Amino acid sequence: MSNHVLHVDEKQLLEMEKHYGNKKIPAPPGALFRVKSNDVVITGYQSGKVLFQGKNVAKEMLKWDRTPMGRVQESKASYVPQSTDTLFHRAHIGSDEAGTGDYFGPITVAAVFLEEEKIAELKQLGVRDSKTLSDASIKRLAQEVIRLDIPYSSLVLHNGKYNDLQQAGWSQGKMKAVMHHYAIQHVLQKIKGKKTEGIIIDQFCEPAVYRRHLKSENLQIEENTHFLTKAESKSIAVAAASIIARTRFVDELDKLALKADVELPKGAGENVDRQIANLIRKHGEKALYLYGKVHFANTKKAYQYL
Ligand code: MG
Repeated sequence: MSNHVLHVDEKQLLEMEKHYGNKKIPAPPGALFRVKSNDVVITGYQSGKVLFQGKNVAKEMLKWDRTPMGRVQESKASYVPQSTDTLFHRAHIGSDEAGTGDYFGPITVAAVFLEEEKIAELKQLGVRDSKTLSDASIKRLAQEVIRLDIPYSSLVLHNGKYNDLQQAGWSQGKMKAVMHHYAIQHVLQKIKGKKTEGIIIDQFCEPAVYRRHLKSENLQIEENTHFLTKAESKSIAVAAASIIARTRFVDELDKLALKADVELPKGAGENVDRQIANLIRKHGEKALYLYGKVHFANTKKAYQYL
């Protein structure tokens, strides 16, 4: 038995009342309505506060959590899981990407499915936000995820294809949205039959924009998909995904550097500009298309070093 509060707007409050219309039970003083659905007692107040009480609270709440980030930004506080009876601690899929701000190398996206016991296990192993980990720890933890036979998918968008799409009018956001979608789909296929309570994507754009990107490719967002900023510090599944995406990115970048026989630094700083110049000197301007994200400002800046 647990209690959770969700804050909704007036429109959604009325929608909820209507949705549960035939499940009404006597409401306490001051409440707009009280209903009982799937063993969860839901009480709505005029203020927009909705109280969920019962065993399967998370599932019932998630039905109404359509634009979590919208509310998070408005209220500066997330309704999201603050106790053990919430999505972060339940079987869920997390996804995250790497390489988007790096001139050299691909974009990588990973999605990971964690069951409850695996969440605890990975936490103990030290899985957390990859930004707070060294490359060596990230590599070790990625190996642990693989050793534990955790269902995951990782996708790579190589530079040639990235540049093709970019020149065809795709924003980086659209590339990421489509990659997250497919990574999640692959994981869902792998775990067929297993119960998952939801999907958390480390937010990189507004949920409505994400949906629009998918729609433009005739793809549909999965039910119970949630977008959270800094999700890798809240969800172990997202943290594990960030570790796998990062490992894949670093591996691919290493391969590229070996092929080019030129050092390819991460990021998009001045040292990158210099190495672009070195790469052009060694392999010609055209080769850049296969090593870097050529629309970045670094490409132009590199010419001062040539
Ligand atoms: Mg991220």
